[in-house]
Amino acid sequence: MSRGGMRYGAGRPSYKVKAEHLQRVDIGRWHRGGFLHTGRSFTWSWHRGDEPTGNIGVLVHGVDSLRLQYMVGSDDQRRDGSQTIQLAHTACNYGKSRPWFVCPVCQRRAGVLYMRAGRFACRRCQKVAYASQSCDLLDRLWRKQSKIESRLVQHWQRPKGMRRGTYARLIEVLLDCEERRENEFAQFAARLLM
Ligand SMILES: [Zn+2]
Repeated sequence: MSRGGMRYGAGRPSYKVKAEHLQRVDIGRWHRGGFLHTGRSFTWSWHRGDEPTGNIGVLVHGVDSLRLQYMVGSDDQRRDGSQTIQLAHTACNYGKSRPWFVCPVCQRRAGVLYMRAGRFACRRCQKVAYASQSCDLLDRLWRKQSKIESRLVQHWQRPKGMRRGTYARLIEVLLDCEERRENEFAQFAARLLM
C-alpha cells in the first residue's frame, strides 16, 4: 500500500473491524436465560457454523458486577485477561429491571460487549463497523443520545433538580435511540448472514 496519499476514509480510524469478526457477550441473553444469579458461574461458547471459536467463563459476583474469565495471547505466551465488568440496571414494567453492562472503557451502559485485542468493551469503544448505508443514521442517533446523556448523571440517573416529567421524557428518547440502533444493527447482521 502506498503511504501518504489520499485514500478513502482518511482521517477516520483505520482499524475498524466488522462485528461478525468479534466475539460478543449479550447481557440480555444471559438475563433472559436466567444465568445472572449471584454466585453462579457458567461457560459461554461461540461458534461459527458448527465450529467452536472460543469460550469464556463467567462468574456472577452479584447484581452489581460479574467477571469474564479468559486467557489471551498465543499458545506460548498466554496470560490471564479476565475482566470484572460492572452492571447497571434500569427499571422497566411490573417492577422488573433490565441489566446492562457498564463499558469498562467509557463507562456507558451497553447491552453487548465485544472482545478485541484481548479485552471486552462496547461497540463504540471497539470501533465496530456498521454497514455504510447505516452510518449516517447511527451517527445521528449517537449524537442525539450523547446530547441527552450530557444532561443526566452517570448511568442515566436523574440529576438533582430535574423534574421527573422531563427526566421520563429524556429516558424515553434514549430508549428509542437504543432501540432504533439495535434494529439497524440487527438488520445489518442479518444481511451479512444471507
Ligand atoms: Zn465503551
